[in-house]
Amino acid sequence: MSTTTEHAGRPVSQARPAEQPYVYQQQALVEPDWRRYPGWADVTEEQWRDVQWQRAHCVKNAAQLRQVMGDLLTDAFYADLERDQAERATMSMLLPPQMLNTMVPDRSWPSAAQQAPAAGEEFTAAFYADPVRRYMLPVFSDRRTDWPSHPYATRDSLHEHDMWVAEGLTHRYPTKVLAELLPTCPQYCGHCTRMDLVGNSTPQVTKLKMAGRPTDRHEAILDYLRRTPTVRDVVVSGGDVANMPWKNLESFLDRLLQIDTIRDVRLASKALMGLPQHWLVPETLDGVHRVASTARERGVGLALHTHVNAAQSVTPLVAEASRALLSAGLRDVRNQGVLMRGVNDSAEALLDLCFAMADEASITPYYFYMCDMIPFAEHWRVSLEHAQHLQHSIMGYLPGFATPRIVCDVPFVGKRWVHQVDHYDTERGISYWRKNYRTSIETEDVDVASTEYVYYDPIDTLLEAGQAWWRAHGSPERTHQEATAAAQVSHAASVSQRDG
Ligand code: SF4
Repeated sequence: MSTTTEHAGRPVSQARPAEQPYVYQQQALVEPDWRRYPGWADVTEEQWRDVQWQRAHCVKNAAQLRQVMGDLLTDAFYADLERDQAERATMSMLLPPQMLNTMVPDRSWPSAAQQAPAAGEEFTAAFYADPVRRYMLPVFSDRRTDWPSHPYATRDSLHEHDMWVAEGLTHRYPTKVLAELLPTCPQYCGHCTRMDLVGNSTPQVTKLKMAGRPTDRHEAILDYLRRTPTVRDVVVSGGDVANMPWKNLESFLDRLLQIDTIRDVRLASKALMGLPQHWLVPETLDGVHRVASTARERGVGLALHTHVNAAQSVTPLVAEASRALLSAGLRDVRNQGVLMRGVNDSAEALLDLCFAMADEASITPYYFYMCDMIPFAEHWRVSLEHAQHLQHSIMGYLPGFATPRIVCDVPFVGKRWVHQVDHYDTERGISYWRKNYRTSIETEDVDVASTEYVYYDPIDTLLEAGQAWWRAHGSPERTHQEATAAAQVSHAASVSQRDG
């Protein structure tokens, strides 16, 4: 029962507050015990912390997974995985032990006594359901069979190559560029948006190969930046810079920092989470310290951007690596996660992750991207409506500077906050966006301010009327432009019907 009293002339409720939709609780980080997996029963802590041991023991195929997991998983799981590799995967398998060890962590085991799920069906069910497994080790049965790909999914869905101004250098926004220095990573994510270029070819995807020698490509990138003083911000990426020999990366960064007009440099490395051992190597940290000192002297913000999607991935080793990088002089370590169904598509999952990073690992939550429209990604993608709902749901819990923005990377536009949509046909799942700048491929006669750009929701999330529309109009033979034009006509018709 509630009563009221007066405070400053206003009634004050004495009722006990109802529980919050999300209840914050500080959680200590946990490094799952790798010895619970049969293949690592004898691996020592010294081996585990050794980056060379981690790289040498990456899991690259179902047979190697079986060597680690043994009979914990059923034969049916291994068959499911192999079928996916043969028929669906856009990325080859590459899992450092550190990352595999965060799947079905011991803290998620059911009893307080840390009772492991029994080998076989029970453990396999837990493994199937695991959020890290769902995006790092996709299996055939994860994917949708009705619409495995959106009809307008494309290999280079963000058209980054179209906007290359030098090989590997995407100039999309007026003041910032993306430099893809190398096409490899220490780990391969199933949903990688650069699946066109990054990693080894799979039966489904023959990867694009960079033509130039790395040293020539890097010099061409620097040359463009020297000639283009309107660019002040460079994302140094790939791939993952953790796969570049440090001396080569340091040489590139030294030359980049000599360009007076560059004011922000962001190093992209998911390895901070997937292979934190890399960023804990003393020689690497010494190198980071040298580069960070130069950046500081020149007033340049040098940060590292990582890619963490689930709270269980933030382990004590990840926190140690993040804090070591900050101690070495980086201005910030920030996270750019990807929003995916079955991985982190609830407010609770996102907030748990953000608090683990911010409280325990000094990683600033920054962005969650909606998963891009690449082939075979429909089971991961969420609708714009759901993303807007999540953005609303996570507001107010974290400090403002650490409240991540959920963004849609709209083809030919770039990142837009999900509430920036211009208009949205929720029946057909088509959203319309505008931009306020030209990319490097737009000529001066294109009226960018009045042009609309589209993004599509996954079709299976639509109500039946919308799904029926796509069955009638979504033939992959139709071009993107035809579909957009048809959708815009439909939108105009529905607006005139509504307004008329
Ligand atoms: S780390 Fe980044 S670039 Fe590498 S596979 Fe994952 S998403 Fe792609």
